Amino acid sequence: MKIKTGIGFDVHRLEEGLELWLGGIKVEHVKGCVAHSDGDVLIHAICDALLGAAGLRDIGYHFPDTSDTFKGIDSKILLGRTVGLIREQGFTVSNVDSIVCMQKPKLKGYIEEMRVCLASIIGIDIEDMSVKATTTEQLGFEGREEGVSAYATVLIIKE
Ligand SMILES: [Zn+2]
Repeated sequence: MKIKTGIGFDVHRLEEGLELWLGGIKVEHVKGCVAHSDGDVLIHAICDALLGAAGLRDIGYHFPDTSDTFKGIDSKILLGRTVGLIREQGFTVSNVDSIVCMQKPKLKGYIEEMRVCLASIIGIDIEDMSVKATTTEQLGFEGREEGVSAYATVLIIKE
């Protein structure tokens, strides 16, 4: 049996008047992420963690932001494809843990919906899909509401 871990990190700039997508869910806010895709920073961090665990490089390698194919793409599609790449290598996902760092808005009311959404795409139980949210106590770019960052860690297993 082979057990591997992976880590993922992503950042996007926030700008007024854009939609904010996090963990596959649309969050009501005055700002959204500037990105080539829908800017779902949490999904991007999870994709990078999964790819990293399997030794499959990173999200930019598989889904380049220079390609028109991925312009404005729903990041849930990228996550589904990433999970497909992991499965092709004979791995199944054991669990995912993640953190979103942003000052506003409060994400508490969205967490369960994100977990349900992400768990169904990844093909794991909801208790194996953790999403946490934190502010950075007004410090740094997240604290100044200039951007949002996300971290993810995963465990994948090949029998
Ligand atoms: Zn991203």
